[in-house]
Amino acid sequence: MKEKDSFIASYFETEFASATTSLDFQNPFECLCAILLSAQTTDASVNRVTPRLFKDYPTPEAMANAPLEDLKNHLHSLGLYQNKAKNLSMLSKILVEKYHGQVPSTKEELVTLPGVGNKTAGVFLLEQGLAPYFPVDTHVHRVAERLGYATKNMDPALVEKKLERTFPKEKWIFMHHAWIAFGRQICHARNPECQRCGLKDDCRYWKKYSSKIGK
Ligand code: SF4
Repeated sequence: MKEKDSFIASYFETEFASATTSLDFQNPFECLCAILLSAQTTDASVNRVTPRLFKDYPTPEAMANAPLEDLKNHLHSLGLYQNKAKNLSMLSKILVEKYHGQVPSTKEELVTLPGVGNKTAGVFLLEQGLAPYFPVDTHVHRVAERLGYATKNMDPALVEKKLERTFPKEKWIFMHHAWIAFGRQICHARNPECQRCGLKDDCRYWKKYSSKIGK
């Protein structure tokens, strides 16, 4: 790693040592469902609906047979809930019909499931300990941009490749969680709390706006 990259990795290892997922799940099926439901909504919102959802429909077989209207009722407090209900239903049917009720374990298979894109597949694989990735959500993208690893409209898949080339593989899973925690707690999209941040010297945003936000 270059000096800058080592410094940044050390900062997160010191300041966000306990960063991990904030989604609640008990098994691979619940894990995949929870990640899918977390698109464009908070993990806390997902955790409020999943206990009852997973109690009523604990397996792909049960979810595949659930009335669509009932799935929508379970999910109606979440953004995009109608699409998410349809995706859960279709995804569960495919798991039953094609994968014997199991969630597949390769990215190539996962991205063929409804509602599962590159990021969701990567998060599932890392949460299940099946493969290391550095998936790029909105927090990771924003932090990467500010720290000079991405540009504003860069394709998340390219940002992921850049981050995976920059940091050693054994750090990817931790860094993914740590950057999300950092984005939520300090490096907000609006009004980041730069005074609390130890990465100012490497930050494009700080260099550009420090005079306005109180150096
Ligand atoms: S200095 Fe501010 S904008 Fe830059 S990484 Fe730190 S919190 Fe984010």
